Amino acid sequence: MDAVARFQCDGYMSNMNTKEQNIYFGKDKLDRASHLRERTAQLQEMQQSHDAKYIPVYNGRHIYMNQHSSFYRRSNPFECEAECFLGLVGEQMWYSCPLNDAQAEKLEKEVGKQFSSLRRYALKLNDELAHIALYSRGLDLWQRNRLFCPKCGTKNKLGWSGHRLLCKNNHEQFPHIEPAIIVLVTHGDKCLLGRKADWPSNAYSTLAGFVEPGETIEESVKREIEEESNIRVRNVQYFGSQPWPFPAALMLAFTADAENEDIKVNDELEDVQWFTRKQLQEMMKEGYVTISPRYTVAHNLIVGWLEDKNA
Ligand SMILES: [Zn+2]
Repeated sequence: MDAVARFQCDGYMSNMNTKEQNIYFGKDKLDRASHLRERTAQLQEMQQSHDAKYIPVYNGRHIYMNQHSSFYRRSNPFECEAECFLGLVGEQMWYSCPLNDAQAEKLEKEVGKQFSSLRRYALKLNDELAHIALYSRGLDLWQRNRLFCPKCGTKNKLGWSGHRLLCKNNHEQFPHIEPAIIVLVTHGDKCLLGRKADWPSNAYSTLAGFVEPGETIEESVKREIEEESNIRVRNVQYFGSQPWPFPAALMLAFTADAENEDIKVNDELEDVQWFTRKQLQEMMKEGYVTISPRYTVAHNLIVGWLEDKNA
């Protein structure tokens, strides 16, 4: 399979047949019930009288079996030691079960499927399960990346049903999130999209970057866009947010107006271009341009602009 085909199999689209109004992964019926995390005895008691579901997770990956019901299990697989309480959906308890190498290998053999990235099957999950799977991924990656305390280097121990790490010197650590901005910049009837060199040649998306220490989000939007494209922006408007644990980002999406049109590309991106609505629609239809997958907030930004009735 060539790079472009693989890219499209990952969920990228080259036309606009599918309309997505809401930001994917954001719909959330889950009550995180954070007050229960420390109450281990109460949680154990609740497990006796409540339906509980367990998602095996390994390096942030899950086993997807083409059926929603087999994505999770009705009991803790291999009685994994560190079951993590994710929350409640109605009366139903949800747990994430981090597996070690041997357990993961055993489960893969048992079901004849491999642990794989959520990107592969995100759109096959219903809203509720997509959100829960993403949540378990973020928590799992944080735990695995923090085996040792960053302050004193001693081994961390998991507590609060998976939501707190504590070393023997009592240094507390909580899940780490990295804020990133992603922006749809427009100028009249044109929008600004760019691509990285390692993307398939027809893939374009909105510009994005991480917020730096000591920086406001508004400053970050202006700096990133100017660095990547030489375009200065104003009228920065918040659009929405999307948790993005690949590995730990929180995407903060904005729209902004451009003050100038002369693009200069830096080393980070291979190409940045202005597209009119008509150009972009035609290029997507013909397959000359693919935009970010339907489960990304970049997709919401671009499709929202293309379909803007007030434009
Ligand atoms: Zn420590």
